[in-house]
Amino acid sequence: MSIVRKIVEALRNAKPWKILAFACVLSGITVTAGGMGLTSMFLAPHTVAERSGPSTETKTVDFTEFLKLLDEGKFKTVEFSTTRLVAEDAKGDEFVLNHDRRFSGESFPQELARRGITVKFPDLNRSSVGDYVLAGVQIGIQILLLLVFVCIGGFLFMNAKRFVNPSWPTVARNVGVRFSDVAGQEESKFELEEIKTFLLNPEAYERSGAKPPRGVLLVGPPGTGKTLLAEALAGETGVSFINTSGSEFANMFVGTGRDRVEKLFKKARKSAPCIIFIDEIDSLARARGGSNSDVSREQDTTLNQLLTEMNGFGKREGVIVVGATNRIDVLDPAVLRPGRFDRHVYMGLPNLGDRRKILDVHIKGKELAKDVDLDVVARGAPGFSGADIENIVNEAATYAARDGRVELTAKDFSEARDKVFMGAKRSTAILDDFEKRLTAYHEAGHAVVATLTKGTDPVHQATIIPRAQSLGHVMQLPEKEWKAVPMSRLLARLDVMVAGRMAEERIFGASEITTGAASDIEEATKTATAMVTVYGMSEKIGMRKVQHTERGYGEVAESEIDRLIADACERARRLLDERGAALEAVAQALIDRETLTGPEIKALVEA
Ligand code: ADP
Ligand code: ZN
Repeated sequence: MSIVRKIVEALRNAKPWKILAFACVLSGITVTAGGMGLTSMFLAPHTVAERSGPSTETKTVDFTEFLKLLDEGKFKTVEFSTTRLVAEDAKGDEFVLNHDRRFSGESFPQELARRGITVKFPDLNRSSVGDYVLAGVQIGIQILLLLVFVCIGGFLFMNAKRFVNPSWPTVARNVGVRFSDVAGQEESKFELEEIKTFLLNPEAYERSGAKPPRGVLLVGPPGTGKTLLAEALAGETGVSFINTSGSEFANMFVGTGRDRVEKLFKKARKSAPCIIFIDEIDSLARARGGSNSDVSREQDTTLNQLLTEMNGFGKREGVIVVGATNRIDVLDPAVLRPGRFDRHVYMGLPNLGDRRKILDVHIKGKELAKDVDLDVVARGAPGFSGADIENIVNEAATYAARDGRVELTAKDFSEARDKVFMGAKRSTAILDDFEKRLTAYHEAGHAVVATLTKGTDPVHQATIIPRAQSLGHVMQLPEKEWKAVPMSRLLARLDVMVAGRMAEERIFGASEITTGAASDIEEATKTATAMVTVYGMSEKIGMRKVQHTERGYGEVAESEIDRLIADACERARRLLDERGAALEAVAQALIDRETLTGPEIKALVEA
């Protein structure tokens, strides 16, 4: 291989980031070196020309004196510069005449020359104080430039490492994760059994002529354990595992996405049997031909390469691609066709029982205080993903560690839960007295109506300690997971949602209501709208789905939505009228203690 070909080859293989980084550093050095060179030309002469001649003198003269000396024929040479004349006599003594540039005309030098004096004009061989300053500034700028270039180059280089790991993709062998590490998700595990069989014994597939599986799509929200499950599949079958993400193929320079797909599969085949996991596969496999832009053409070639590689799987290669996404709807239909990602496994958010199991997994090796009830923790995390639950355990352990404790307490867990749910306690957001009172009545309204309304989840806690997005909140815990929710429960939920505002109105007057109810209003609107347009729970619309158009849901549906909310307000208002004393008691207790538990609230309401 000739040297030129070697260089071309190296450039082709090197990733653009790397080249850019090098170019930056190189140009930085070049510019700096060039500048230094120029600068030294300015700096060099004064050491030679001016400081030489041991016994000569320099004397500044005025114009009269200058003319006198000139007439005496004393000068041998006269050198002009922008701000002064320097005349030299036979001994080498210098006479300096400072001037204001009037000698730059022609007649004076000519006059001198006519008298037989050597006339010199300024060149770079003579430096003035200005030159030194200029040179200093230039060196400064050069150094600064070099630093900037080095920084940019270094930054690119560091980032380049992320993209340009020469050993990319990394192959993991002997993965330690097992199905038992994935709590819940029983159906998903069951659906992966076939893939497991194949990976354990690909030859059996070949012998029987069965079509080997090629791709599995794990579909579900973030943090539900898709990566974990794919790893467990590798662990269970003892095959190698390559963990990639769709974003590693997207937004690259032309051709690099395609090259990477090629490289990925080459490596997988070498390491077969092997699982290729591609997280966020939607960023790689979006529907093609969206537009004719460079970016979309680039994406198309990358996706085409993926499909080609998957088509090309020989029977015995033993490579399985597991893709993960939350957006199966945006994927290119070609991706879902037989022989590609034709197996789809849905990974939902964990239900109560599964949340409990996930807690068990992550609690391992940690000590719990006696007051910790993991069932309560699990119930307190509705809608949380597996990753969120892991996060709660980690946060709780952090709180304990901060206090120098080994055991995690119930308080650690409840604070951890709140933190994960709403972001850290806003220590700066301290309510003033009015806000505190208002929030207390608002939350007390929710709490009282929730406690007194049949068919709502029991109140777990009410608080007026402000968090990231809210001034306070009332938390209800479902006793069970509702798969089909009865209308009566939705109506009761509406009553509780609007109760905060109803309490504000009752205590502070209709004109003093606040913006604090915005998220309640949003929730109530969502619920009422779904009841009317999706669930067929209104008289006038009945069992009909109502589509949203430019004109909204239409007059009838919207008046039904309004009615549902207005009725809820009416019921909540009436209840708070009847139980004004309970509202008062709970609000007062909140002002005093900031946080109340469900049983405490119940006791106050029933008193
Ligand atoms: P996804 O790939 O779906 O976004 P991950 O697999 O990355 O989710 O999950 C992140 C972390 O959350 C996992 O490493 C694991 O610790 C925890 N986790 C998620 N789901 C579960 C589960 N079902 N059982 C145990 N841990 C889980
Ligand atoms: Zn509210």
